[in-house]
Amino acid sequence: AETAEPATVPGGTVAYYSAENSATRGRRVRLLQDLRLALERGELSLAYQPQIALVGERLVGFEALLRWYHPEFGQVAPSEFVPLAEESGLILPIGTWVLRDALRQLKAWRVEGIDIERVAVNLSPRQFEDPGLFDAVWAVLDEACLPKGSLELEVTESMALHDPVRAIELMARLRELGVVLALDDFGTGYSNLSQLKRLPVDVIKIDQLFIRQIVRDAGDAAIVRAVVALAHGFGLKVVAEGVESQAQVIKLAQLGCDVCQGYHYGAPMAANTVSGWMRERGFA
Ligand code: C2E
Ligand code: MG
Ligand code: MG
Repeated sequence: AETAEPATVPGGTVAYYSAENSATRGRRVRLLQDLRLALERGELSLAYQPQIALVGERLVGFEALLRWYHPEFGQVAPSEFVPLAEESGLILPIGTWVLRDALRQLKAWRVEGIDIERVAVNLSPRQFEDPGLFDAVWAVLDEACLPKGSLELEVTESMALHDPVRAIELMARLRELGVVLALDDFGTGYSNLSQLKRLPVDVIKIDQLFIRQIVRDAGDAAIVRAVVALAHGFGLKVVAEGVESQAQVIKLAQLGCDVCQGYHYGAPMAANTVSGWMRERGFA
């Protein structure tokens, strides 16, 4: 049976076509049920996507992206299962596993002599709001025993601005631990410039929405140029997400962007293929 794609309607709510309603709901219920066991069954893994600094084409690090191989359905996209994990609260144990596994992997690479500076991990709203987050991050960093700057955490504007007083305090404390903080999907939320000025972040990741047409669309180029100016004014680095071509790289370099991430340099890859990729591309 065909699985129904949810149709996004204006206002951000999601509507399902009624003919496929029950099939969709069935898959959802099934995925939610199976997600509870996915961790202990070893069905979750992390894929790693490189981030390349434009000046000197230097490897900055890798973003860890969660993957779920379901025994029956095969790969399930994060856009499908992360929201389920979020709603059910499963994102808390899963998120802690992601943190621990990403740092374990970074440590393993270093032990093998593979020189990788940093790994970036995504946080979800529920994790960010969890009172136990700071202690969980502290514990995994303590366990991994890696130098400061080895872990980057990605949060979104809406997460940080939901309860800004608390968020600013939490982010400042994380930074004291040596965590690098990035604002993910920048430009898709309700950017509040006065609040942005106060957020203790190091990196702004411009959403791929603005990068996709950057070569042809003067409006998108103007947005990126403005975000770069703003970020640099605050002393932040700018990462472009979803970079798929050399033409985009050239354009982004002209616009002053610092780092590129996307299929042009490398798609998210299994951990055991990272060192081969690095050698092939001249990063090792
Ligand atoms: P994100 O953090 O913004 O990650 C970037 C997404 O863009 C990834 O999708 C990546 O595979 C995709 N991408 C990278 N380069 C390109 C490109 O050149 N072109 C295009 N079209 N896409 C590209 P993915 O892996 O499906 O993840 C989707 C989202 O799921 C992530 O967006 C993130 O919000 C969430 N996610 C993934 N892993 C985790 C995790 O461990 N924890 C949490 N809380 N969320 C996660
Ligand atoms: Mg991300
Ligand atoms: Mg993003």
